[in-house]
Amino acid sequence: MLYLPVIVVHGGAGALPEELREIHARGCREAAFRGLEILLQGGSALDAVVEAVACLEDNPLFNAGTGASLDEEGHLSLDASVMEGSGLRAGGVCALPPFRNPIRIARAILEEGRHVLLAGEGAARFAVARGFEPADPASMITDSARRRLEEVLRGRADGHWPGGTVGAVARDAQGHLAAATSTGGTVGKAPGRVGDSPIPGAGTYADNASGAASATGEGEAILRVQLCRSACDLLLHGLEAPRAASQAIAHIGGRIKGRAGIILIDRNGQVGIAHNTETMSWAIARPGELKSGWRWEGSQP
Ligand code: ASP
Repeated sequence: MLYLPVIVVHGGAGALPEELREIHARGCREAAFRGLEILLQGGSALDAVVEAVACLEDNPLFNAGTGASLDEEGHLSLDASVMEGSGLRAGGVCALPPFRNPIRIARAILEEGRHVLLAGEGAARFAVARGFEPADPASMITDSARRRLEEVLRGRADGHWPGGTVGAVARDAQGHLAAATSTGGTVGKAPGRVGDSPIPGAGTYADNASGAASATGEGEAILRVQLCRSACDLLLHGLEAPRAASQAIAHIGGRIKGRAGIILIDRNGQVGIAHNTETMSWAIARPGELKSGWRWEGSQP
């Protein structure tokens, strides 16, 4: 039996200034389209989410890969993970020094299967041994990332984010699910801080038996409620994807005042998107359909 492929991407929850909203939505559209092309050529959900996220990492507008947010010392420290739903295989990098596409290194960890998470120097050494080239930080740090850090350090911004973490979830023609997430983390974070994005169950989760999810927002809050796993569990309890997404966000907001967003698909390819932040850019691509926005208000994508 063949399934209708679908891919959903997000470009981060936060409060995007008006002038950036449409170009963020366009970046999400491009990434979703790239992922859909892969699915239509017979690629797996895992291939599609990795390539969609790599496309967003290469786009300097987003807080991942090139253009990612800086820690309080002005360094890049990158988090990313990927998970696939048929064997619950997962791979993630935490506090990785500059490499162009952390998500591809996360995938290499998943494929190797020896460990799930590698951090810092060890993650960098693994990457080099697998043929990934460390990047010159200057080539990945953008003026706008420097400006954002300066504003946070001077107390002119609240230390969080305008938005820009990236993620993708997909179902392929075989019915397999996958999820991927990549970020530079919160602006002005402490050196060594790891957020939710690389942690399976928190920022990323996929299980063919339930669904696939990628989160964005306050990493500390997302970690504490295990947002992606709990949204997928709601699917197991019979909720439809849109309800599961909004209930998971209502829970993080109601229980610990966490601000977050989530994209979710279930095994039937139904999509849920929810956030309690001002904006969250997103795009959905299915054969014959490509739509995007910077705020999700609907309940039935
Ligand atoms: N969740 C990310 C983190 O805390 C940030 C974000 O989504 O904007 O690292």
